[in-house]
Amino acid sequence: MPQRITGKTELIGLIANPIRTSKSPMMHNTAFEALGLDLVYMVFEVDNTNLKDAVQGLRSLGAVGFNVSMPNKTEVMKYLDEISPEAKLCGAVNTVVNRNGHLYGTNTDGKGFMLACKEKGFDIIGKKITLIGAGGAATAIAMQAGLDGVAEISIFNGNDRFMDNAKANAERLNSETSCKAQAFCLDDTDALRREIESSVLLVNATGCGFGVPAGPCLIPDKSYLRPDLKVVDIIYSPEKTHLLEMAEEVGCENMNGVRMMLHQGAAAFKMWTGKDMPFAPVEEALAQISSQK
Ligand code: NAD
Repeated sequence: MPQRITGKTELIGLIANPIRTSKSPMMHNTAFEALGLDLVYMVFEVDNTNLKDAVQGLRSLGAVGFNVSMPNKTEVMKYLDEISPEAKLCGAVNTVVNRNGHLYGTNTDGKGFMLACKEKGFDIIGKKITLIGAGGAATAIAMQAGLDGVAEISIFNGNDRFMDNAKANAERLNSETSCKAQAFCLDDTDALRREIESSVLLVNATGCGFGVPAGPCLIPDKSYLRPDLKVVDIIYSPEKTHLLEMAEEVGCENMNGVRMMLHQGAAAFKMWTGKDMPFAPVEEALAQISSQK
């Protein structure tokens, strides 16, 4: 955040609802301050009732860009001028760049996931992965993984309203990327065991386990894991979900969602500012707000 907001300070926003507990303002404002950028990141409570006006307002006011979160990620697409191939494939936008009034929408969630895996040394290109979930985050991960060259994805979802998404995501991967995909219901535990056995990476991209230490886990028990399997849970709170605790017990290399969150934010930051997000001060600030809870 700039020391003082002046007549030259420029705006980046986040439009979503609910939104007041988002970590994005802390992440971006800390990075602006660290790099001495005269920008401010603000959140605005916007949903489908006022989305069109909000987008037009941000364009008219000359905002540098904005993030989009639930419930606006899909709906916002019809108010933008151009959509990136990955956002089209996901059917969702989380980042918009304002290029002199021309609004370009893209999706950095999947990129954040792929960059976090690469940084951790999880080599999944040309390999098979098992992905649990078919909501917004899981779809972004599946589509980016398909675009980046993951060879095969087995998608599992519980028997809820997202099961149709799981099937649609598998169909889209098969028809629009070179990745082979198949959708399964989580109730089919034989398939779950078999698909994990032939995968190099298992990802939980559902909200199951969020916010609850030692909370629920969609993998029935640790016999589904093996030491050379990599495990990612994209949840970042608690730091270690029940799934990651099981992975540690078995000796699997594992990672929570913090690095994905940082990398998706950094990808947006780069598009808005042309600069790399400085991770050290941002991580410090995020750790401070987590410890204040
Ligand atoms: P969403 O509402 O779009 O999708 C929810 C998904 O979770 C669906 O697949 C649904 O079937 C599944 N699910 C939820 N509760 C479940 C339960 N109890 N049992 C079985 N399945 C369940 O949500 P989203 O935006 O995709 O977010 C999912 C999770 O990912 C959230 O916890 C969110 O905090 C996290 N997330 C992390 C990052 C990151 O950068 N690390 C980014 C986005 C989302």
